[in-house]
Amino acid sequence: MSKKLFTPGPGNVPQLIRVQLAKDLIHHRMSDYRSILFNVSDKLKKVFKTNSDVLILTSSGTGAMESSIVNLFSKNDEVLVINTGFFGERFIEICSTYELNVHTLNYNWGETYQLQDVKDMFIKFPHIKGVFITHHETSTGILNNIEILGEYLHTTNALLIVDSISGMINHLFDFDGWHIDCALASSQKGFLLPPGLAFVALSEKAKDMLPQSKLPKYYFDYQKYLDYYKKGQNPYTPAISLVLALDVALDTILDKQITTIVNEKKLLRQYVEKRMQEVGFELFIKDESLKGNVVVPVLTNDSYDVDKLVAFLDNRYNISVSKGQGKFLNSMLRIGILSEFTNEDIDDLINHIIEFKAISINDN
Ligand SMILES: *Cc1c(COP(=O)(O)O)cnc(C)c1O
Repeated sequence: MSKKLFTPGPGNVPQLIRVQLAKDLIHHRMSDYRSILFNVSDKLKKVFKTNSDVLILTSSGTGAMESSIVNLFSKNDEVLVINTGFFGERFIEICSTYELNVHTLNYNWGETYQLQDVKDMFIKFPHIKGVFITHHETSTGILNNIEILGEYLHTTNALLIVDSISGMINHLFDFDGWHIDCALASSQKGFLLPPGLAFVALSEKAKDMLPQSKLPKYYFDYQKYLDYYKKGQNPYTPAISLVLALDVALDTILDKQITTIVNEKKLLRQYVEKRMQEVGFELFIKDESLKGNVVVPVLTNDSYDVDKLVAFLDNRYNISVSKGQGKFLNSMLRIGILSEFTNEDIDDLINHIIEFKAISINDN
């Protein structure tokens, strides 16, 4: 029985991609790689909805987060982090590591941000140079509205940096239309790939900031990626197999169309919500307009021992389900649906949960 990843990243890699991953390597300084890199970049622009360049880094998503900070800012720069969960906290940690002057707006887990709070911060701190936000907060399932934030920030001098690592593809996204300056994504979330690649889109406003940034950087120096891209290359040896597979994955995604993917995921998410409630779990987010489509966070209400349930599913059925993060470590399950699951896959999961419940009752 192959592993089923009901986790919010990575997801299961489709067979079509696995076949591609097993193929011969090509060389990254040769013309065949160049044409693939140009093709992939064009397709990435369609996914991000931008005319700007999208850089490909060999890294997980966190590397991309760190790269945005070291390339766009300098020590003591004033920035604002809109913190709605575990990944918002990560931005605060990285900004603090590089000794930026970090202002934060902290919200309870399960809440979204308020635009008025952001406006108030700009009144208090008019020199804020950048605003960081998580599009889909994977720790809580909240989908933050980027469009209204971009509309406001467009009227300021600040850059808008968006972590859409778990947001991209499974939710609508519009880099140019929403006035985003730097957007981050990574291969193991919506892109049907294993971990290893990260993607960074940069607006002209962001590119203008590159020469001003004085933080140390070497491997993640965006200017090098932009310069090498003109030759159809990456500055250092890229994860060639993943780039080749990305080409195939992007064809699959764009052929299907992102709006279709978003709708299908939404229906699947609603089906998971319905079935999880039937077996006694409580939805963590109630407001439909705030829900993302890649994870269904549920509270256990003391009716389940989360650790035992997770171990039971993994050991007996080879199914991985995520626990909560942070303070919800022992009271939340996060059913990830990044993989291409059907309602029948969900039914199987639910049946195993029912089986677990029956066994635990007999134990007591
Ligand atoms: C997965 C994820 C990340 C990055 O995690 P890595 O393990 O470094 O790939 C960052 N932000 C969000 C919102 C994520 O879901």
